[in-house]
Amino acid sequence: SRSDITYFGAGPALLPTDILEDAAKALLNYHDTGLGIAEHSHRSQLAADVINQAKADLVSCLDIPDDYEILFMQGGGTGQFSATAYNFVGAWVTRKQQEIFGEIKGDPNDSKVIQRLKEAVDKDLKIDYLITGGWSQKASAEGERLFGSEHVNIAADSRKTNGGKFGTIPDESTWKLSKDAALVYFCSNETVDGVEFPGFPKSLQPGPDGKGPIVVADMSSNILTKKIPVKNFSAIFFGAQKNLGPTGITVVIIKKSFLPPFTSQPSANLMRQLGLPIPPIIFQYETIAKNNSLYNTLSIFDVYIIGQVLRKLLQTYPDKVEGQQAVSNKKAQLVYDAIEAFPEIYQIIPNKAVRSRINICFRVIKGGDMDTAERAFLEEGIAQGLTGLKGHRSLGGIRASNYNSVPLEGAEKLAKFIRAFAMS
Ligand code: PMP
Repeated sequence: SRSDITYFGAGPALLPTDILEDAAKALLNYHDTGLGIAEHSHRSQLAADVINQAKADLVSCLDIPDDYEILFMQGGGTGQFSATAYNFVGAWVTRKQQEIFGEIKGDPNDSKVIQRLKEAVDKDLKIDYLITGGWSQKASAEGERLFGSEHVNIAADSRKTNGGKFGTIPDESTWKLSKDAALVYFCSNETVDGVEFPGFPKSLQPGPDGKGPIVVADMSSNILTKKIPVKNFSAIFFGAQKNLGPTGITVVIIKKSFLPPFTSQPSANLMRQLGLPIPPIIFQYETIAKNNSLYNTLSIFDVYIIGQVLRKLLQTYPDKVEGQQAVSNKKAQLVYDAIEAFPEIYQIIPNKAVRSRINICFRVIKGGDMDTAERAFLEEGIAQGLTGLKGHRSLGGIRASNYNSVPLEGAEKLAKFIRAFAMS
Protein backbone atom coordinates (compact mmCIF):
# COMPACT_ATOMS: atom_id res chain seq x y z
CA SER A 1 0.00 0.00 0.00
CA ARG A 2 0.91 3.67 -0.24
CA SER A 3 2.21 3.82 3.30
CA ASP A 4 4.57 0.87 2.69
CA ILE A 5 6.72 2.61 0.12
CA THR A 6 9.01 5.59 -0.14
CA TYR A 7 9.18 6.79 -3.71
CA PHE A 8 12.39 8.41 -4.99
CA GLY A 9 11.30 8.89 -8.61
CA ALA A 10 12.60 11.94 -10.49
CA GLY A 11 9.21 13.35 -11.35
CA PRO A 12 6.32 13.29 -11.15
CA ALA A 13 6.98 12.98 -7.45
CA LEU A 14 4.99 11.88 -4.47
CA LEU A 15 2.29 14.21 -3.20
CA PRO A 16 1.42 14.28 0.50
CA THR A 17 -1.28 11.72 1.24
CA ASP A 18 -3.45 14.07 3.34
CA ILE A 19 -3.52 16.56 0.47
CA LEU A 20 -4.58 13.84 -1.97
CA GLU A 21 -7.31 12.68 0.40
CA ASP A 22 -8.70 16.21 0.62
CA ALA A 23 -8.32 16.58 -3.13
CA ALA A 24 -10.36 13.42 -3.72
CA LYS A 25 -13.22 15.04 -1.81
CA ALA A 26 -12.71 18.36 -3.60
CA LEU A 27 -13.03 16.56 -6.93
CA LEU A 28 -16.52 15.45 -5.98
CA ASN A 29 -17.82 18.44 -4.08
CA TYR A 30 -15.74 21.56 -3.65
CA HIS A 31 -16.67 23.78 -0.70
CA ASP A 32 -20.16 22.27 -0.61
CA THR A 33 -21.06 23.67 -4.00
CA GLY A 34 -22.21 20.27 -5.23
CA LEU A 35 -19.69 20.61 -8.05
CA GLY A 36 -16.12 19.36 -8.09
CA ILE A 37 -13.10 21.66 -8.32
CA ALA A 38 -12.29 20.33 -11.80
CA GLU A 39 -15.84 21.10 -12.97
CA HIS A 40 -16.13 24.71 -11.88
CA SER A 41 -15.54 27.39 -14.50
CA HIS A 42 -12.06 28.81 -14.65
CA ARG A 43 -13.83 32.19 -14.89
CA SER A 44 -15.61 31.77 -11.55
CA GLN A 45 -14.77 33.73 -8.41
CA LEU A 46 -13.92 30.43 -6.82
CA ALA A 47 -11.23 29.80 -9.45
CA ALA A 48 -9.85 33.32 -9.04
CA ASP A 49 -9.64 32.72 -5.28
CA VAL A 50 -7.69 29.49 -5.81
CA ILE A 51 -5.24 31.24 -8.14
CA ASN A 52 -4.79 34.32 -5.96
CA GLN A 53 -4.29 32.32 -2.78
CA ALA A 54 -1.68 30.08 -4.43
CA LYS A 55 0.14 33.16 -5.73
CA ALA A 56 0.08 34.84 -2.32
CA ASP A 57 1.38 31.70 -0.61
CA LEU A 58 4.17 31.28 -3.15
CA VAL A 59 5.16 34.91 -2.56
CA SER A 60 5.25 34.19 1.14
CA CYS A 61 7.19 30.91 0.87
CA LEU A 62 9.90 32.36 -1.36
CA ASP A 63 9.87 36.01 -0.24
CA ILE A 64 9.14 37.18 -3.76
CA PRO A 65 9.47 40.98 -4.00
CA ASP A 66 6.54 43.18 -5.11
CA ASP A 67 8.06 43.92 -8.47
CA TYR A 68 7.60 40.31 -9.63
CA GLU A 69 4.56 38.67 -11.22
CA ILE A 70 3.61 35.00 -11.01
CA LEU A 71 2.23 33.19 -14.03
CA PHE A 72 0.66 29.74 -14.18
CA MET A 73 1.25 28.31 -17.60
CA GLN A 74 0.98 25.06 -19.54
CA GLY A 75 3.44 23.30 -21.81
CA GLY A 76 5.81 22.11 -19.09
CA GLY A 77 9.42 23.03 -18.47
CA THR A 78 9.97 22.21 -22.13
CA GLY A 79 7.47 24.90 -23.14
CA GLN A 80 9.56 27.36 -21.15
CA PHE A 81 12.68 26.49 -23.15
CA SER A 82 10.82 28.18 -26.02
CA ALA A 83 8.99 30.83 -23.98
CA THR A 84 12.08 32.20 -22.24
CA ALA A 85 13.87 32.64 -25.56
CA TYR A 86 10.86 34.21 -27.30
CA ASN A 87 9.97 36.65 -24.53
CA PHE A 88 13.43 37.85 -23.62
CA VAL A 89 14.47 38.22 -27.25
CA GLY A 90 11.25 40.21 -27.69
CA ALA A 91 12.20 42.42 -24.74
CA TRP A 92 15.70 42.87 -26.20
CA VAL A 93 14.22 43.96 -29.54
CA THR A 94 11.93 46.47 -27.81
CA ARG A 95 14.87 47.84 -25.83
CA LYS A 96 17.04 48.23 -28.93
CA GLN A 97 14.19 49.80 -30.85
CA GLN A 98 13.80 52.42 -28.13
CA GLU A 99 17.55 53.07 -28.03
CA ILE A 100 17.73 53.56 -31.79
CA PHE A 101 14.54 55.60 -31.84
CA GLY A 102 16.02 57.78 -29.08
CA GLU A 103 19.06 58.43 -31.24
CA ILE A 104 17.46 59.23 -34.56
CA LYS A 105 14.05 60.43 -33.32
CA GLY A 106 11.07 60.26 -35.67
CA ASP A 107 8.69 57.35 -35.80
CA PRO A 108 9.80 54.13 -34.05
CA ASN A 109 8.40 52.24 -37.01
CA ASP A 110 10.18 54.41 -39.52
CA SER A 111 12.15 52.43 -42.10
CA LYS A 112 15.43 53.98 -40.87
CA VAL A 113 14.76 52.70 -37.34
CA ILE A 114 13.81 49.27 -38.67
CA GLN A 115 16.93 49.14 -40.82
CA ARG A 116 19.18 50.01 -37.87
CA LEU A 117 17.29 47.56 -35.69
CA LYS A 118 17.81 44.80 -38.24
CA GLU A 119 21.53 45.53 -38.26
CA ALA A 120 21.60 45.40 -34.45
CA VAL A 121 19.75 42.08 -34.46
CA ASP A 122 22.11 40.56 -37.02
CA LYS A 123 25.21 41.79 -35.21
CA ASP A 124 24.40 41.80 -31.50
CA LEU A 125 21.44 39.58 -30.64
CA LYS A 126 22.73 36.80 -28.40
CA ILE A 127 21.15 34.33 -26.03
CA ASP A 128 23.69 32.98 -23.56
CA TYR A 129 23.41 29.46 -22.16
CA LEU A 130 25.43 27.75 -19.46
CA ILE A 131 25.29 24.06 -20.28
CA THR A 132 25.74 21.91 -17.20
CA GLY A 133 23.54 18.93 -17.96
CA GLY A 134 20.86 17.44 -20.15
CA TRP A 135 18.18 20.01 -19.37
CA SER A 136 20.18 23.16 -20.04
CA GLN A 137 21.47 21.43 -23.16
CA LYS A 138 17.89 20.90 -24.34
CA ALA A 139 17.04 24.53 -23.58
CA SER A 140 20.00 25.74 -25.63
CA ALA A 141 19.04 23.43 -28.49
CA GLU A 142 15.58 25.02 -28.51
CA GLY A 143 17.13 28.50 -28.53
CA GLU A 144 19.16 27.46 -31.58
CA ARG A 145 16.18 25.87 -33.28
CA LEU A 146 14.11 29.03 -32.90
CA PHE A 147 16.71 31.73 -33.46
CA GLY A 148 19.60 30.03 -35.26
CA SER A 149 23.02 29.19 -33.89
CA GLU A 150 24.32 32.64 -34.86
CA HIS A 151 22.19 34.08 -32.05
CA VAL A 152 23.10 31.51 -29.43
CA ASN A 153 26.25 31.78 -27.36
CA ILE A 154 27.22 28.73 -25.32
CA ALA A 155 28.96 30.66 -22.56
CA ALA A 156 30.10 27.47 -20.86
CA ASP A 157 29.71 23.74 -21.41
CA SER A 158 30.87 21.44 -18.66
CA ARG A 159 31.42 18.54 -21.07
CA LYS A 160 34.34 20.40 -22.66
CA THR A 161 36.52 20.14 -19.59
CA ASN A 162 35.18 16.87 -18.23
CA GLY A 163 35.92 14.30 -20.91
CA GLY A 164 32.66 14.86 -22.77
CA LYS A 165 30.56 14.18 -19.68
CA PHE A 166 28.45 16.31 -17.38
CA GLY A 167 29.14 16.33 -13.66
CA THR A 168 30.93 19.64 -13.11
CA ILE A 169 30.27 23.36 -13.44
CA PRO A 170 33.08 25.13 -15.30
CA ASP A 171 34.89 27.77 -13.27
CA GLU A 172 33.23 31.15 -13.70
CA SER A 173 36.50 32.69 -14.90
CA THR A 174 36.16 30.57 -18.06
CA TRP A 175 32.59 31.64 -18.90
CA LYS A 176 32.32 33.63 -22.11
CA LEU A 177 29.32 35.84 -21.49
CA SER A 178 28.05 38.17 -24.23
CA LYS A 179 28.10 41.91 -23.63
CA ASP A 180 24.39 42.60 -23.84
CA ALA A 181 22.73 39.18 -23.97
CA ALA A 182 18.95 38.99 -24.32
CA LEU A 183 19.23 36.53 -21.44
CA VAL A 184 21.74 34.35 -19.63
CA TYR A 185 20.17 30.97 -19.00
CA PHE A 186 21.11 28.31 -16.53
CA CYS A 187 19.50 25.27 -14.94
CA SER A 188 19.76 25.54 -11.18
CA ASN A 189 19.51 21.78 -10.68
CA GLU A 190 20.16 19.27 -13.43
CA THR A 191 17.68 16.51 -12.64
CA VAL A 192 19.27 13.88 -14.87
CA ASP A 193 22.94 14.54 -14.12
CA GLY A 194 22.69 15.34 -10.42
CA VAL A 195 24.45 18.70 -10.68
CA GLU A 196 23.24 21.70 -8.69
CA PHE A 197 24.56 25.25 -8.64
CA PRO A 198 25.77 25.69 -5.04
CA GLY A 199 24.71 29.33 -5.05
CA PHE A 200 23.90 32.23 -7.34
CA PRO A 201 26.82 32.67 -9.78
CA LYS A 202 29.07 35.58 -8.76
CA SER A 203 29.62 36.80 -12.30
CA LEU A 204 25.87 37.17 -12.87
CA GLN A 205 25.26 39.17 -9.71
CA PRO A 206 23.86 42.68 -10.15
CA GLY A 207 26.16 45.57 -9.33
CA PRO A 208 25.60 48.13 -6.54
CA ASP A 209 23.23 50.03 -8.86
CA GLY A 210 21.05 46.93 -9.07
CA LYS A 211 21.88 46.51 -12.75
CA GLY A 212 23.25 43.27 -14.12
CA PRO A 213 22.73 40.65 -16.77
CA ILE A 214 19.25 39.35 -17.52
CA VAL A 215 19.33 36.03 -15.73
CA VAL A 216 16.77 33.28 -16.34
CA ALA A 217 16.84 30.02 -14.44
CA ASP A 218 15.13 26.66 -14.70
CA MET A 219 14.38 25.59 -11.14
CA SER A 220 12.07 22.72 -12.02
CA SER A 221 13.74 20.28 -9.66
CA ASN A 222 14.97 22.39 -6.75
CA ILE A 223 12.38 25.11 -6.29
CA LEU A 224 11.14 25.33 -2.69
CA THR A 225 14.10 23.32 -1.42
CA LYS A 226 16.22 26.36 -0.63
CA LYS A 227 16.07 30.09 -0.23
CA ILE A 228 16.79 31.93 -3.46
CA PRO A 229 17.75 35.56 -4.18
CA VAL A 230 14.73 36.23 -6.40
CA LYS A 231 15.82 39.82 -7.04
CA ASN A 232 18.88 38.60 -8.96
CA PHE A 233 16.69 36.91 -11.56
CA SER A 234 14.68 38.36 -14.40
CA ALA A 235 12.70 35.13 -14.54
CA ILE A 236 12.57 31.78 -12.82
CA PHE A 237 10.44 28.91 -14.07
CA PHE A 238 9.59 25.45 -12.82
CA GLY A 239 7.22 22.64 -13.62
CA ALA A 240 5.03 21.87 -10.62
CA GLN A 241 5.45 18.12 -10.74
CA LYS A 242 8.39 17.66 -8.39
CA ASN A 243 8.16 19.87 -5.34
CA LEU A 244 4.88 21.63 -5.80
CA GLY A 245 2.00 19.67 -7.26
CA PRO A 246 0.80 17.47 -10.06
CA THR A 247 1.99 17.51 -13.65
CA GLY A 248 0.36 20.11 -15.86
CA ILE A 249 1.24 23.50 -14.45
CA THR A 250 4.43 25.43 -15.03
CA VAL A 251 5.08 28.45 -12.85
CA VAL A 252 6.95 31.52 -14.06
CA ILE A 253 8.14 34.21 -11.68
CA ILE A 254 8.99 37.23 -13.79
CA LYS A 255 10.20 40.73 -13.04
CA LYS A 256 7.44 43.21 -13.83
CA SER A 257 9.86 45.46 -15.71
CA PHE A 258 9.67 42.90 -18.53
CA LEU A 259 5.89 43.24 -18.75
CA PRO A 260 3.65 46.11 -19.81
CA PRO A 261 3.49 48.99 -19.07
CA PHE A 262 7.30 48.88 -18.71
CA THR A 263 8.15 46.60 -21.64
CA SER A 264 5.87 45.43 -24.43
CA GLN A 265 6.62 42.66 -26.85
CA PRO A 266 7.31 43.75 -30.44
CA SER A 267 4.45 43.43 -32.88
CA ALA A 268 4.25 40.34 -35.06
CA ASN A 269 4.75 42.64 -38.02
CA LEU A 270 8.02 44.02 -36.67
CA MET A 271 9.36 40.55 -35.86
CA ARG A 272 8.49 39.48 -39.39
CA GLN A 273 10.42 42.43 -40.82
CA LEU A 274 13.40 41.53 -38.65
CA GLY A 275 13.28 37.90 -39.75
CA LEU A 276 12.71 36.72 -36.18
CA PRO A 277 10.14 34.10 -35.11
CA ILE A 278 6.80 35.11 -33.64
CA PRO A 279 5.81 33.36 -30.41
CA PRO A 280 2.52 31.48 -30.14
CA ILE A 281 0.20 33.73 -28.14
CA ILE A 282 -0.03 31.16 -25.36
CA PHE A 283 3.71 31.47 -24.68
CA GLN A 284 3.65 35.26 -24.52
CA TYR A 285 4.16 36.25 -20.88
CA GLU A 286 2.39 39.60 -21.21
CA THR A 287 -0.75 37.88 -22.48
CA ILE A 288 -0.77 35.47 -19.55
CA ALA A 289 0.03 38.24 -17.04
CA LYS A 290 -2.72 40.53 -18.35
CA ASN A 291 -5.25 37.77 -17.80
CA ASN A 292 -4.05 36.62 -14.36
CA SER A 293 -3.09 33.28 -15.97
CA LEU A 294 -6.58 32.81 -17.39
CA TYR A 295 -6.10 33.72 -21.04
CA ASN A 296 -7.36 30.23 -21.80
CA THR A 297 -8.68 27.32 -19.75
CA LEU A 298 -6.30 26.53 -16.92
CA SER A 299 -6.59 23.43 -14.77
CA ILE A 300 -7.84 24.96 -11.52
CA PHE A 301 -7.63 21.54 -9.90
CA ASP A 302 -3.86 21.54 -10.42
CA VAL A 303 -3.53 25.06 -9.03
CA TYR A 304 -5.65 23.99 -6.06
CA ILE A 305 -3.19 21.17 -5.26
CA ILE A 306 -0.28 23.59 -5.60
CA GLY A 307 -2.06 25.86 -3.13
CA GLN A 308 -2.52 23.02 -0.67
CA VAL A 309 1.16 22.05 -0.89
CA LEU A 310 2.24 25.65 -0.29
CA ARG A 311 -0.20 25.97 2.63
CA LYS A 312 1.25 22.85 4.20
CA LEU A 313 4.80 24.13 3.78
CA LEU A 314 3.86 27.42 5.47
CA GLN A 315 2.13 25.58 8.30
CA THR A 316 4.99 23.13 8.81
CA TYR A 317 7.86 25.62 8.73
CA PRO A 318 7.48 28.96 10.50
CA ASP A 319 10.60 30.17 8.69
CA LYS A 320 9.09 29.01 5.39
CA VAL A 321 11.46 27.78 2.71
CA GLU A 322 14.43 28.04 5.05
CA GLY A 323 12.81 25.41 7.25
CA GLN A 324 12.30 23.18 4.25
CA GLN A 325 15.90 23.85 3.18
CA ALA A 326 17.25 22.57 6.49
CA VAL A 327 15.28 19.34 6.09
CA SER A 328 16.27 18.93 2.42
CA ASN A 329 19.92 19.38 3.33
CA LYS A 330 19.69 16.95 6.21
CA LYS A 331 18.06 14.27 4.05
CA ALA A 332 20.72 14.71 1.34
CA GLN A 333 23.50 14.57 3.91
CA LEU A 334 22.18 11.31 5.35
CA VAL A 335 22.18 9.65 1.94
CA TYR A 336 25.55 11.03 0.80
CA ASP A 337 27.18 10.07 4.11
CA ALA A 338 25.98 6.49 3.67
CA ILE A 339 27.28 6.34 0.08
CA GLU A 340 30.63 7.91 0.97
CA ALA A 341 31.18 5.49 3.82
CA PHE A 342 31.74 2.74 1.21
CA PRO A 343 33.97 4.07 -1.59
CA GLU A 344 34.78 0.55 -2.75
CA ILE A 345 31.06 -0.20 -3.25
CA TYR A 346 29.60 3.11 -4.48
CA GLN A 347 30.77 5.93 -6.71
CA ILE A 348 29.02 9.30 -6.74
CA ILE A 349 28.72 10.49 -10.35
CA PRO A 350 29.04 14.31 -10.19
CA ASN A 351 31.88 16.27 -8.71
CA LYS A 352 31.50 16.79 -4.96
CA ALA A 353 31.45 20.62 -5.08
CA VAL A 354 28.40 20.67 -7.36
CA ARG A 355 26.57 17.49 -6.48
CA SER A 356 22.85 17.93 -6.15
CA ARG A 357 21.04 17.80 -2.82
CA ILE A 358 17.94 16.82 -4.76
CA ASN A 359 18.90 14.22 -7.37
CA ILE A 360 21.54 11.98 -5.87
CA CYS A 361 23.23 10.05 -8.70
CA PHE A 362 25.64 7.21 -8.04
CA ARG A 363 26.91 3.89 -9.35
CA VAL A 364 27.13 0.60 -7.54
CA ILE A 365 30.53 -0.88 -8.34
CA LYS A 366 30.41 -3.78 -5.93
CA GLY A 367 32.09 -6.86 -7.37
CA GLY A 368 33.20 -5.05 -10.55
CA ASP A 369 30.03 -5.85 -12.49
CA MET A 370 27.93 -2.71 -12.27
CA ASP A 371 24.90 -4.04 -14.12
CA THR A 372 24.50 -7.00 -11.79
CA ALA A 373 25.24 -4.97 -8.67
CA GLU A 374 22.80 -2.23 -9.62
CA ARG A 375 20.08 -4.70 -10.51
CA ALA A 376 20.51 -6.33 -7.13
CA PHE A 377 20.50 -2.94 -5.40
CA LEU A 378 17.25 -1.93 -7.12
CA GLU A 379 15.56 -5.29 -6.47
CA GLU A 380 16.49 -5.41 -2.82
CA GLY A 381 15.47 -1.77 -2.44
CA ILE A 382 12.02 -2.47 -3.90
CA ALA A 383 11.65 -5.43 -1.55
CA GLN A 384 12.12 -2.98 1.30
CA GLY A 385 9.67 -0.45 -0.10
CA LEU A 386 12.34 1.87 -1.57
CA THR A 387 11.15 2.53 -5.12
CA GLY A 388 11.85 4.80 -8.08
CA LEU A 389 15.63 4.56 -7.65
CA LYS A 390 16.64 3.62 -11.19
CA GLY A 391 18.88 6.23 -12.81
CA HIS A 392 17.99 8.08 -16.01
CA ARG A 393 18.51 5.94 -19.12
CA SER A 394 21.17 8.34 -20.42
CA LEU A 395 23.35 8.03 -17.32
CA GLY A 396 22.51 4.64 -15.84
CA GLY A 397 23.19 3.82 -12.22
CA ILE A 398 21.04 4.89 -9.31
CA ARG A 399 19.24 8.18 -8.79
CA ALA A 400 17.55 8.99 -5.50
CA SER A 401 15.37 12.06 -5.89
CA ASN A 402 15.04 13.88 -2.62
CA TYR A 403 11.99 16.03 -3.25
CA ASN A 404 10.07 17.76 -0.48
CA SER A 405 7.48 15.01 -0.18
CA VAL A 406 10.14 12.41 0.70
CA PRO A 407 9.96 12.40 4.49
CA LEU A 408 13.03 12.44 6.72
CA GLU A 409 12.23 8.85 7.74
CA GLY A 410 12.28 7.89 4.05
CA ALA A 411 15.81 9.27 3.66
CA GLU A 412 16.84 7.52 6.88
CA LYS A 413 15.49 4.25 5.55
CA LEU A 414 17.36 4.69 2.28
CA ALA A 415 20.62 5.57 4.07
CA LYS A 416 20.26 2.48 6.24
CA PHE A 417 19.63 0.31 3.19
CA ILE A 418 22.67 1.77 1.36
CA ARG A 419 24.86 0.82 4.33
CA ALA A 420 23.32 -2.64 4.75
CA PHE A 421 23.62 -3.44 1.03
CA ALA A 422 27.30 -2.45 1.06
CA MET A 423 27.99 -4.73 4.01
CA SER A 424 26.02 -7.70 2.68
N1 PMP B 1 13.89 21.14 -16.61
C1 PMP B 1 14.22 20.27 -15.64
C2 PMP B 1 15.30 20.65 -14.68
C3 PMP B 1 13.54 19.07 -15.54
O1 PMP B 1 13.86 18.21 -14.56
C4 PMP B 1 12.51 18.76 -16.46
C5 PMP B 1 11.72 17.48 -16.41
N2 PMP B 1 12.03 16.56 -15.53
C6 PMP B 1 12.24 19.68 -17.48
C7 PMP B 1 12.94 20.86 -17.51
C8 PMP B 1 11.20 19.40 -18.51
O2 PMP B 1 9.97 19.52 -17.95
P1 PMP B 1 8.64 18.99 -18.65
O3 PMP B 1 8.71 17.52 -18.70
O4 PMP B 1 7.56 19.54 -17.75
O5 PMP B 1 8.58 19.61 -20.00
